[in-house]
Amino acid sequence: MNVKCERCGCEDLKYFVQIRGVYQCRRCIQYQGYEGSVLYYDDPVEYEMNYELTDAQKECSKKICELSRNKDVLVHAICGAGKTELVLESIQYAIEHKQKVGIAVARRQVVLQLYERLSKIFNSIKVTRVCEGFTDDCEGHLIICTTHQLFRFHQMFDLLIIDEPDAFPYSSDKTLQGFAKNSVKGHTIYLTATPSDDLLKRVKIKEIEEVRLFRRPHNHDLVIPVCKVIPLYGQFVYLKYWLDKFDESCLIFVPSIKIGNQLSTYLGIPFVYAGYEKLDEFITMFKNNVGSRLICTTVLERGVTFENVQVAVVHTNHPVFNLASLIQISGRVGRSMNYPSGRVLFLCTERKAEVSLCIDLQIQANA
Ligand SMILES: [Zn+2]
Repeated sequence: MNVKCERCGCEDLKYFVQIRGVYQCRRCIQYQGYEGSVLYYDDPVEYEMNYELTDAQKECSKKICELSRNKDVLVHAICGAGKTELVLESIQYAIEHKQKVGIAVARRQVVLQLYERLSKIFNSIKVTRVCEGFTDDCEGHLIICTTHQLFRFHQMFDLLIIDEPDAFPYSSDKTLQGFAKNSVKGHTIYLTATPSDDLLKRVKIKEIEEVRLFRRPHNHDLVIPVCKVIPLYGQFVYLKYWLDKFDESCLIFVPSIKIGNQLSTYLGIPFVYAGYEKLDEFITMFKNNVGSRLICTTVLERGVTFENVQVAVVHTNHPVFNLASLIQISGRVGRSMNYPSGRVLFLCTERKAEVSLCIDLQIQANA
């Protein structure tokens, strides 16, 4: 017997139960709520930015806009290249051509940030955020939502932009991926610095187009990480000495809460992780205080931008730091025009393949 869930696309019989003769999917049953909708806009859509795109950005933006009319597009751009700026033209074009547009991101915090930015840029249309805490109004000319909320937009989007499809939890959650697939009737644009093997394979067989941008707007090289091989507790000592050498702010990434707490006690520096109640408060404090230091888990590996930050990773061998997360972590550094360079330190008990690959890819992107 064949069954297929209309919401999440599940075809695995073990998830289905029969209720009054009708098969129901249990894989996505926890996602409940009313359907959202995208409104048409009749006037020309203007967008306003307080800075100009670089020539390279303009060229990519134009290509993406043209290609996405007929095909799915992978926008492969290094961290800090300005991914959002690259799709504004496509959004404008689509809305003006009576198409329904949505942007989906993995994390709620990024939805809220993107909403702040895009409602200023597209100030004549109704931009709507849909995520935990904001689900009362799911109607707008442009929807920005978490991938968790895509179940509300069944066969809705002519253009869906998925920001960082390689980010947790979307990257490993078949239900969320199913929602995304089901919400699109037209084409998808994937924005990422670290495309999955699957996306790259689809590029190779010409199923989707790839547009690359390997240069940041300030045109400086990416910072190449420095790798030191030291036993774990020796890493603490080394880090203390390393931090004494500069006055700029620094994020120190750890693979687990246990190591985070130990290091926090040793260095006397605060430690934050996903679910920590004062997370937002500490992020704001870190942003506002030049020269501050913060220990964190991968919760800060992407999405949040800091003006002038250095990074260190403790126990880089740990499996939680895969290639994508190492690239994202190094990508925190040198993003701003005022501070285009900085320091990236990987501390390992032994040098693993992902560390070498990450360093090689950064060097290649600079070439
Ligand atoms: Zn389902």
